[in-house]
Formats: sequence, structure tokens, C-alpha cells
Amino acid sequence: MDLNYKYPNSVIYNIWYQGRRLYTGSSVDFPQRKRGHKSSYNNNKDRPLYRKLKEKNIQFEDLQFIIYKEFPCNDLKELRKEEGKCIKELKSEFNENIAGRTKKEYQKDNKEKLKEYQNEYQENNKEKLKEKRKEYCEKNKEYQKEYFKEYQKDNKEKIKEYQNEYYGVNKEKLKEKIICECGIEYTKHHKARHEKSQKHINYMLNKQN
Ligand SMILES: [Zn+2]
Repeated sequence: MDLNYKYPNSVIYNIWYQGRRLYTGSSVDFPQRKRGHKSSYNNNKDRPLYRKLKEKNIQFEDLQFIIYKEFPCNDLKELRKEEGKCIKELKSEFNENIAGRTKKEYQKDNKEKLKEYQNEYQENNKEKLKEKRKEYCEKNKEYQKEYFKEYQKDNKEKIKEYQNEYYGVNKEKLKEKIICECGIEYTKHHKARHEKSQKHINYMLNKQN
């Protein structure tokens, strides 16, 4: 499957009832869509399809959901366009009736459908999206590591020089000898320790008196 397809699992499907094609629809996740239809039917969702089914006293269990064609595509517009084409061609019973719905109903349908598509897509691709993100992070981590390694290799001499310079300068500085006013000699590195020494403290106390 070409992963460039954003909606690789898209299908056009038909709902059949006793050899009659009742409805043509599209989905980015067909199994999920079937569950959605079932839940909408059971909850008496106020949509033309479910109203029609109830009117005709058709039980959900008697419906057959059959894929008409697989239609991997790049965006919802493509899928909707294909769906529209198929609806026109197939003239499924309820779609024909649905065509006569009010503008408001049509807009509501479209809005809900779009939401449904998005939910389906996210549900369907949850693992894939997670995997992709993880992959990217890993790749980036590897890249950073490689980059750092390369950088270190290319700049080995420079880095060494720099480190030598830094530590060298500091080492010398820290080794610097200081003669305290108390008469004791200490290295700069041990200044704090010296100032806490009893000898130094005694001297300072005497000086104040
Ligand atoms: Zn001292």
C-alpha cells in the first residue's frame, strides 16, 4: 500500500436488504462505519437513512454491508466526489429519497459526515500515527547523535585544543599560591578551606580585639 495515500483504507460501500440496494456511502474505515451505523440505528438517530429503515420496519440485523469498491485517496474531497459519482450511478433506493432532503438537513449531514470521517481516520490510524511520531523521534535522536559524533570527529583537534586551553588555564589559576595575612600559605583552590581553619579564625579574632 502506498503510504502517500492519506486515506488508504477508504471504500465506497452499499447497504443491501433482501437483494435491494438501499444505500450507498463512503468511509475511511469501513468496520468502524458499520459500528457507527448500528449505533445510530439503535439510538434512533434523526437522519434520513435511519428514519427510512424504521419506517419500513427493517431490522438492522437483516442489513448487509458490502464494499462496492476500494478507493484509496488523498483527501476527503476526493472520496466525497467518488461517493457522489457512485450514488448517481447506482441510484440506491434510499439515496434517491435522501436526495430530496432539505438544504438544512443536507448541511447537517455533511457536517456530521466530515466529523465522522475524521474520527474514523484517527481511530483507524491511531497506531500508525503513534508509530510515525515515535519513528520520527527515534530518527531525529539518531540524527542528533550522528551529527554530534560527526561534529566531534571533524573538530577533534579544535575541541581538544579548547579543552586543554580551558583546563590548562584554570589548573594554573587554581594552583596559584596565596599568602594570607594570617601568615599561612594556601593555594587558591583551598581558599575556603583555609578560611575555616582554626589558625586563620584565631588570627582574625585577635585582629578584631
Ligand atoms: Zn589566613
